[in-house]
Amino acid sequence: MPNLRVPGPTPCPEDVLEAVGGQMINHRGPEFKEIITRAHGRLQQVFATKNDVLIMTTSGTGGMEAAVVNVLSPGDKVLNVSVGVFGDRFAQIAERYGATVIKLSSPLGQAADPAAVRKALQANPDVKAVTVTHNETSTGVTNDLEAIAKVVKSEFGKLLVVDAISSLGCIPLLTDAWSCDVVATASQKGFMIPPGLAFISVSPAAWQAAEKNTTPRFYFDFARHKSYYQRGQTPWTPAVSIMYGLDLSLDKMLKEGMTNVYARHARIGRQVREGAKALGLQLLPADERYASNTVTAVRVPAGVEGAKLTGLLRQEHGVVVAGGQGPLEGKIIRIGHMGYVSEADIQDVLTALKASLTKLGFKTSAVPTS
Ligand code: PMP
Repeated sequence: MPNLRVPGPTPCPEDVLEAVGGQMINHRGPEFKEIITRAHGRLQQVFATKNDVLIMTTSGTGGMEAAVVNVLSPGDKVLNVSVGVFGDRFAQIAERYGATVIKLSSPLGQAADPAAVRKALQANPDVKAVTVTHNETSTGVTNDLEAIAKVVKSEFGKLLVVDAISSLGCIPLLTDAWSCDVVATASQKGFMIPPGLAFISVSPAAWQAAEKNTTPRFYFDFARHKSYYQRGQTPWTPAVSIMYGLDLSLDKMLKEGMTNVYARHARIGRQVREGAKALGLQLLPADERYASNTVTAVRVPAGVEGAKLTGLLRQEHGVVVAGGQGPLEGKIIRIGHMGYVSEADIQDVLTALKASLTKLGFKTSAVPTS
């Protein structure tokens, strides 16, 4: 069995795989109602919110698109805070639907600066909403969402729309305490279940915006989803199998306790970073305080070809990591460590990394034993 360490889809526990293999049920019947109603309540706990958390059958990008089409109307001004590929994607979606996008981008490897967000909002008082990525999977950077939210909500009262696809359920995100209006995440990351579902929390202010919003929408229409939400259904046929997995994974997460889940991710994040540095490697994030606890971006050392390194890891050690995207292609490798991950999985990656780098002529330091 390969050690799947890409930043999503992430490995699923055996019992989750068994659960998703279950026989179909009527998605308009009482058993499904029980499953989805339980999921709604538990998702609210994981999101730390009293807001509705809609469940849509789509990938994470679908969740982002749902947020855009319900909150923004053509011509609305949006401030897009981007620190990489997925932040840029939010801007692309908003532009495609006719919003006017003001782009606040940071150099790759850096986190967004809350002071720059403040400046951009001062310069653009007519902005309706701010879109931001909590954890940028392409660079392994976690933004200080709490500080950004303070600026966006407490100082300017704008709508705050968050991509939490590679953070929610792994890194603390307090939806209500931080006043996040729309938070979108997906099943195949921290939730330890296969791809296919997106979870989207919607605040009262976001519901108001959605009511007045003029962007045409059908599949992703929040109002349509809400009317079925209250009945314990979804408007369209849901990914029933993934719902079985969700039921079990939410049970596991809440039994472990979200504080413990966060602590485990923090511990493992540190293990990856310390292990990579001990091999003589450099991290991409400029300031380690913003290094992600769900995905670590490590620079490919000079003289080593990125594709050869990922190839050796896969072929000789069964360790599957991701390369860089866009301008970072060949320059970094990304090690995913969210959801179903243990210290032993990471030790395995570090051992394989040392052997592969040595084979490619890079002189590593010793692998730590912790
Ligand atoms: N945003 C972030 C931060 C992500 O990590 C991803 C998936 N890697 C996406 C958006 C897109 O999600 P999906 O591929 O499920 O559409």
